[in-house]
Amino acid sequence: MPHVITQSCCSDGSCVYACPVNCIHPSPDEPGFATAEMLFIDPVACVDCGACVSACPVGAISPDTKLEPEQLPFVELNAAFYPKREGKLPPTSKLAPVLEAPRVERGDGPLRVAIVGSGPAAMYAADELLTQQGVEVNVFEKLPTPYGLVRAGVAPDHQTTKRVTRLFDGTTRLPGFTFYLNVEVGNHVSHRELLEHHHAVLYAVGAPNDKRLDVEGMNLPGTGTATEIVAWFNGHPEFADLPVDLGSERVVVIGNGNVALDVARILTSDPDDLARTDIADHALAALRDSKVREVVIAARRGPADSAFTLPELIGLTATHEVVLDRADHELVQRDLAECTDPLTRNKLEILSKLGDADAPATRPRIRFAYRMTPQRVLGTDRVEGMAFTVTGGDDVRTLPAGLVLTSIGYRGRAIRDLPFDEETGVVPNESGRVVGAPGTYVAGWIKRGPTGFIGTNKSCAAQTVHELVADFNAGALRDPRGRPVHLDRLIRARQPELVDVAGWKAIDAAEVARGGDDRPRDKFTEISDMLAAAATAPKPSMRERLLAGLGL
Ligand code: NAP
Repeated sequence: MPHVITQSCCSDGSCVYACPVNCIHPSPDEPGFATAEMLFIDPVACVDCGACVSACPVGAISPDTKLEPEQLPFVELNAAFYPKREGKLPPTSKLAPVLEAPRVERGDGPLRVAIVGSGPAAMYAADELLTQQGVEVNVFEKLPTPYGLVRAGVAPDHQTTKRVTRLFDGTTRLPGFTFYLNVEVGNHVSHRELLEHHHAVLYAVGAPNDKRLDVEGMNLPGTGTATEIVAWFNGHPEFADLPVDLGSERVVVIGNGNVALDVARILTSDPDDLARTDIADHALAALRDSKVREVVIAARRGPADSAFTLPELIGLTATHEVVLDRADHELVQRDLAECTDPLTRNKLEILSKLGDADAPATRPRIRFAYRMTPQRVLGTDRVEGMAFTVTGGDDVRTLPAGLVLTSIGYRGRAIRDLPFDEETGVVPNESGRVVGAPGTYVAGWIKRGPTGFIGTNKSCAAQTVHELVADFNAGALRDPRGRPVHLDRLIRARQPELVDVAGWKAIDAAEVARGGDDRPRDKFTEISDMLAAAATAPKPSMRERLLAGLGL
């Protein structure tokens, strides 16, 4: 009964270190870890102890006998990562080499770090710093709710992936951790002030912008970006009022990465299924009235270059009707004949078994379309369709549509007072140390660009924290001015409505209660409602404030 890793694998590697026989790969020290689409369990070496199940933060691992029917392809997928061998291997006690935790070697007072942002890279960095005593971490987030793209980016029908927030909630309970939610760096407090009050400032602010598609008509009503739609259906307060017109039969999504798949899946799902998730109420209401019958995901390259990952393709085709037209089926066959890479072949084989776009649709469906280079948006007052040229040629294909969404990747935004590389959209850095800005560090997408999975940020953040701690040990960081209480007073004077860990817990509990028995939570989408819920939190006692060094 070997264990199997399934679709929601977050790749943070926790299972690798829990496994007593080192049968989960690639491990964080192996080549290929950074680019692997998921981790895989060796079915021959697995001793079925289940240690990985407890370690996995997103519930992605099950014994092969307990898989749901739609998860069965993952049995073969895990096995295919390893060479074929006969019989059971003898158990081995060799453990995966654990990356050494950064060790604070100075005994002259705590290392004080400000982290800006509260998504996965920020929370993994906080956790890595707080693995030892003598470290204080203040996490600043402009929204009253934490966890970045886990809350506002992971699609609502991927609830198991959102379980990683339990791990992050655990980090907020560690001694030395403080949340300053609803506090915007650059508005309520400046970079210079943060540097004055901490040894180091670590930015983990992600890549909040979209890459823009520079074609005619992209400003017409009825155009938008997939990332805006994702924020809209996830209840992000800045996108709750986004006008999303689902009144036409077809939506075109440009680009075929995992974000495109997320959007297409939600737009073609049965609203009764979505009603059991934490999707925003406004989005659920709009989807119940939707006239959309087909979402076309248009890629500029061919099937072998599809940007979506294999686990996501397996998950999508298990639950949704996905089709190709005849010309695209031919492209898949052509790519299959030439392709030698096993992972890509796996994707192509799944694509080759998809239904035909000519067949009548029985429910809202998704169509993959290939070799479609965006040319211009059609329409005068609003979107009427999209024109593409066939990639590498002059033929033009048009698709009538009422909504055209680009899903061509995220892009980092410049941070005031820090250098920024306009071409790559990242803050120039060496292993997380910001170039030319002593005491300043980056982790996550603003450090390495918008690629990878939630767990990829764990090793990324760990690398930055190693550099930061080394600089602290070497005496290269300026000591902070004043005590924690001075910073706390400064922030409270500038933002009396700041939300702390207790406030977040109150918001969380109120949302879960609103969700009732049928939904994991019903999110607040208005900041005022979040703040009202946070205000019901018990205030810290005199003793707690004194222990946290925050005075009375
Ligand atoms: P992505 O994977 O980088 O895909 C971007 C897509 O846009 C590609 O198909 C790309 O085509 C296309 N594109 C780029 N520029 C274009 C242009 N000018 N014209 C037409 N097409 C263009 O980006 P993403 O979907 O935003 O995902 C970002 C990261 O988050 C990825 O690492 C993804 O795996 C991850 N993510 C993971 C999950 C999950 O695990 N469930 C969910 C969401 C996101 P080319 O390939 O031809 O450049």
